Amino acid sequence: MTIEDFRPSKKITTFYPPQRILMGPGPSDTHHRVLSAMARPTLGHLDPVFVIMMEEIKELLRYAFLTKNKMTFSVSAPGSVGMEMCFVNMIEPGDKVVVCRNGVFGPRMVENVERHGGVAVVVDDKWGEPVDPQKVEDTLKQHPDAKILAFVHAETSTGVLSDAKTLCEIARRHDCMTIVDTVTSLAGSPIKVDEWGIDAIYSGSQKCLSCPPGLSPVSFSERVTDFVKKRKVKVHSWFMDINLLLGYWGSSTRTYHHTAPTNALYALHESLVMLSEEGLEHSWARHKRNHEALKAGFETMGIQYVVDEKYRLPQLNSVFIPDGIDDKAVRARLLDEYSLEIGAGLGDFAGKVWRFGLMGTSSRVENVLTCLNALEVVLS
Ligand code: PLP
Repeated sequence: MTIEDFRPSKKITTFYPPQRILMGPGPSDTHHRVLSAMARPTLGHLDPVFVIMMEEIKELLRYAFLTKNKMTFSVSAPGSVGMEMCFVNMIEPGDKVVVCRNGVFGPRMVENVERHGGVAVVVDDKWGEPVDPQKVEDTLKQHPDAKILAFVHAETSTGVLSDAKTLCEIARRHDCMTIVDTVTSLAGSPIKVDEWGIDAIYSGSQKCLSCPPGLSPVSFSERVTDFVKKRKVKVHSWFMDINLLLGYWGSSTRTYHHTAPTNALYALHESLVMLSEEGLEHSWARHKRNHEALKAGFETMGIQYVVDEKYRLPQLNSVFIPDGIDDKAVRARLLDEYSLEIGAGLGDFAGKVWRFGLMGTSSRVENVLTCLNALEVVLS
């Protein structure tokens, strides 16, 4: 064999992606300001100028999460790693964790608990329904030794919003710490970390923040950071150990931990600047307004929502596929003819449900109109 024998069999050149309208469950469209931020010169991850920007990211994330938590930063990996970081740091062998399961992402939390040596006690609710606070209360009464309550605030697989405020209040009464998944809710629906007493929270860059995928904003209360410092057993991950990450994200004398994705962090910085310019309440209101417009269009077309109006996520609209309609063929035509991506149903909802995302930059009235028009043509 020669070096030439290892060349790709066809000539591969620069990749130019088509311009899509991303109206699925995420990623959402990235704003051009965020894309241009990414194209700026790469800096070293310990460059003093970069370090100043990291501090700004922390401040802007504290605003997005409404918290004063010092340990608020962005994990250099997607939302799944943000999830795993919470569990791996907060669970010691044998710890009991109550996990709520009402869609695709609760079961992943159960997996995390078990893989990190904990014992999961599961509270099940139907797909399409929110977590039932009464069930959580009853389960915590039955398991007074439970240490953590974990739940998904915005279930992307179904389009349901659970009542995080009430669930955290119940957890506090039972002296439990909380882990809350806000991958789909951050910047799209109200989240008040300090007011609701959330201990550990993670999100994703690619949904309502309209940043490219691959980063996971997280925030930990002092209760968590104190617990992790005093753990009897070392955290079962080197990369995700927040004690070690503190040296990079948490201290004034930064030390190398890993090579942070500097350009991706410029993008997150820009998307957070845009969020602070718009204002959190205005961002929540925009997501709601565009959801109302899409809902009005669906109603005139006779398309039914999966989730009861009280619990609907504005940024993720899941609807039943009308009878006799070929799911895959419709989604393929929307993509081919309108460059419009919508989401398929997951798990129990595969083939039965479509998911229309209106997240971040994608949450705009032009997209609502384009989508309704395209759907009308494709379904006729
Ligand atoms: N949790 C929820 C609710 C999600 O919607 C997702 C992704 O869609 C994740 C976790 C995992 O995030 P990622 O795909 O960025 O790893």
